Amino acid sequence: HVVVVGSFNVDHVWNCATLPRLGETLSGRYHTGPGGKGFNQAVAAARAGAETGFLCALGDDDGGRQARALAEADGIDLRVHDSSQPTGTAGIYVDEAGHNTIVIGAGANADLSVAWLGRQAEALTGARVLLSQLESPLDSVLEAMRLARASGTTTMLNPAPANAQCLRELLAAADILTPNETEFAALLERHTSHRIESETIATTSDAQLHRLCRTLLPRGTVVITLGAAGAFVSHREDQLRGDVAPFYRVAADKVEPVDTTGAGDAFNGALAAAYAAAHVHAHPFAEHVRFANRYAALSTEHVGAALAMPRLPASAS
Ligand code: ADP
Repeated sequence: HVVVVGSFNVDHVWNCATLPRLGETLSGRYHTGPGGKGFNQAVAAARAGAETGFLCALGDDDGGRQARALAEADGIDLRVHDSSQPTGTAGIYVDEAGHNTIVIGAGANADLSVAWLGRQAEALTGARVLLSQLESPLDSVLEAMRLARASGTTTMLNPAPANAQCLRELLAAADILTPNETEFAALLERHTSHRIESETIATTSDAQLHRLCRTLLPRGTVVITLGAAGAFVSHREDQLRGDVAPFYRVAADKVEPVDTTGAGDAFNGALAAAYAAAHVHAHPFAEHVRFANRYAALSTEHVGAALAMPRLPASAS
């Protein structure tokens, strides 16, 4: 099964013609719904067919109660650190072109502590895949990854958001790293002497991308998500068996996106779900990426974050 350690936020979203400028007051269409990278990815993993656990911190308020009810409805095994802070929130403005600005109030998410995670060790060590992000305290994310890895669980790190301080130790603890283009460029800048413009990644040669991935994460697999262009995969060559290529692209599915919010979260949850099912189905890694592309493309056809995750029949592959 898959265990996700991460954030839950109540998203407050305003759709406006343009984004508000300094000092400006606008009106927009408002809706609210569950979000947070951790929760979105847990819902995606569950709806993509994996038995899923989610470890998070919630406040004693409506947001916290909403998270519990939603997790139960999706059959997610929820473990909550009860926080005296309000449940996490995000204020999101989206303009007509789909561009956004976001302010996050971490609230309870900031209370997800190393000590509490240590007490959840048995939930982490029983999993086939641990999936985490950088919207929670980084020492806690690191602790979760170390506990998981020590018992043979595959660790998957989605290094998002791009402006989070992704520590070198976190990279070293990741078996699979899944940046989008912005996050990949930010990680290269922070941790290597190489530079790349995120806009040029999709058109950079595969051999060059592979070299950059090997420099960034010599011991693990890197999957760069490329939006409508799908994903690029770079494997550690000395771990390959048979005729698997060390690097390759997997094309995205063609869709008419309505809302790409959470596409990355859909991709990560689905990739974890497919990987966790692999011992049953014995598919090569490229098949898992194909599945994640398909799942993420479907998610763009619905508006919203966690609630936009498509439901699939009970098999991930
Ligand atoms: P993020 O949401 O983190 O910015 P991406 O934009 O790279 O991440 O999207 C993640 C994944 O979602 C892609 O790898 C792809 O599978 C899928 N996806 C995103 N946008 C589209 C699109 N326009 N058409 C088809 N698939 C898409």
